[in-house]
Amino acid sequence: FGHAGAVSLAQAAFFGIGAYVSGILAIEFGWSFVYTFPLAILLPTVLAVVVAAPVLKLEEHYFALATLGLGLVALLVATHWDAVTGGTNGLAGVPNFKLFGYETKHRLEKLMFVWTFVLIGALLAHQIMRGLYGLTHKITRENSTVAMSIGINVSTLRFSAFVLSAGYAGAAGAFIAHIVRVVSPQNLEFSVMISCLTMAVIGGRTSVGGAILGAVLLVHLPEWFRFLHDYRLISFGAATLVMVIAAPEGLVGTLVSLRQRLLPERPPPPVPKLHPLITPSRSLATGPLLRIDQMQKAFGGVLAINNVSLDIRKDEILGLIGPNGSGKTTLVNLISGVYVPDGGEVWFAGEDITKLPPYGISRLGMARTFQNVNLVGDMSALDNVAVARASASKVSMRAAVLTIGRDQTLVRAREHAMALLEAVGASDAALQSCDSLPYGVKRRVEIARALAVEPQLVLLDEPAAGLNDVEQMDLAEQLKKLPRAGITLLVIEHNMRFLLTLAERIICLDHGEIIAQGRPEDIVSDPAVIEAYLGTSDEMAI
Ligand code: ADP
Ligand code: MG
Repeated sequence: FGHAGAVSLAQAAFFGIGAYVSGILAIEFGWSFVYTFPLAILLPTVLAVVVAAPVLKLEEHYFALATLGLGLVALLVATHWDAVTGGTNGLAGVPNFKLFGYETKHRLEKLMFVWTFVLIGALLAHQIMRGLYGLTHKITRENSTVAMSIGINVSTLRFSAFVLSAGYAGAAGAFIAHIVRVVSPQNLEFSVMISCLTMAVIGGRTSVGGAILGAVLLVHLPEWFRFLHDYRLISFGAATLVMVIAAPEGLVGTLVSLRQRLLPERPPPPVPKLHPLITPSRSLATGPLLRIDQMQKAFGGVLAINNVSLDIRKDEILGLIGPNGSGKTTLVNLISGVYVPDGGEVWFAGEDITKLPPYGISRLGMARTFQNVNLVGDMSALDNVAVARASASKVSMRAAVLTIGRDQTLVRAREHAMALLEAVGASDAALQSCDSLPYGVKRRVEIARALAVEPQLVLLDEPAAGLNDVEQMDLAEQLKKLPRAGITLLVIEHNMRFLLTLAERIICLDHGEIIAQGRPEDIVSDPAVIEAYLGTSDEMAI
């Protein structure tokens, strides 16, 4: 929920299963906690792996419902499988923690024992999420379209988060069984789920400290209100609401933002000289870099793309024009895998990419920007680019997670990102969160992010929109240099002056069909283009 951004309502089920596994094995077979604990983690984890495949494919709200269903099934099994679970009453007589012949009898011992594991669990979570892996989750959570466009496999990321969450819940369940010393359907009830979510929201859903603080508060807050007698629960509920409204990022999240405001981060690392800055993965395939063959796409009754075929040659800059609604963005979405075409084929660098998901296409060396700038708002410009860079350079997430200390993969990705931001003239913005950047700078950051994936082909959807004349000419000059670095461009643009300085060839779409293509100077005088597009636009005065 916190990191991957999917509301899983199965936490209570995993927690309860952990409790039952450890409790039952200890009662029935007298097994030591040394053995029951790993099994209490293992069983929910395995269950999560099994149910993940169908469940994670679902959209957000259906995912929540499906995980809720899992919880209900677990509850039914617990209440009705009397022979094993003891039914509604559960099983009493769960022993204390037994470890290598030692039994924790005193409350203080138990307390220290549990908190030791809380600490270990927290360190582990921090280690996993501290660097690149955490940022990758953040991009996925905030904007999965962007995540896919920079080569992140959103499904595997959600899968690993779901499985990890099951392991943690199982461990927690094992502890409660030996503290309360009873296992019962209460361990799986919906209220456990609500507690988990409330803890995360109150403490701060993306920070490890927040999870712990939230848990401590949720247990202790009701006690503070005890003097209010009958009004206790209402006051507690009101206090919780106030906290959620006043600190939507949770207590720890609010503290972190406050610290960032008071003590801004250190200036970015010095920009290393990277040679070459961009090294596109060159394909050996001959023929056009991209080939679209009889592409077809309809939305309801509207044929957005109708029988479009076109080639993009290596190292060319191809302009794409057409009136609003003529299908330009749809074409980019089809090429980059956001939409699957109804008919036709797309070949890129010698491979059939018609049915590939966006992250697969990105990994083959295709990048794009979005018509409406798509950056993760509360993340620095530097990190927006760095994650793309890391994802494209195929750094091993395992290495990022396993190295002790600072995540060096992230440090290197940031260095490269810094150089890219400088190349597009946005290095001053590196440490600012993207929310606060002016429009023109956001566009540049987006282009830097596209370049970060080391593309052979970049699709730019109206890169000059919203820029003033000076900025536009500046951008055109920068883009012109890219073919020399081995990067081919497809540029959608309304501003003909911008496109005329840039494109070597222009294609004009109207109602989803190509009505003209050729050299820019021929296109502007083409009667069909003037009729459909230029004639209707003030840009005629080029
Ligand atoms: P352009 O980028 O050239 O302005 P678009 O590709 O955005 O045009 O749109 C082409 C046509 O397809 C329009 O009629 C638009 O309404 C329709 N369209 C685009 N995307 C969708 C969608 N996701 N759902 C339904 N209709 C869409
Ligand atoms: Mg568009």
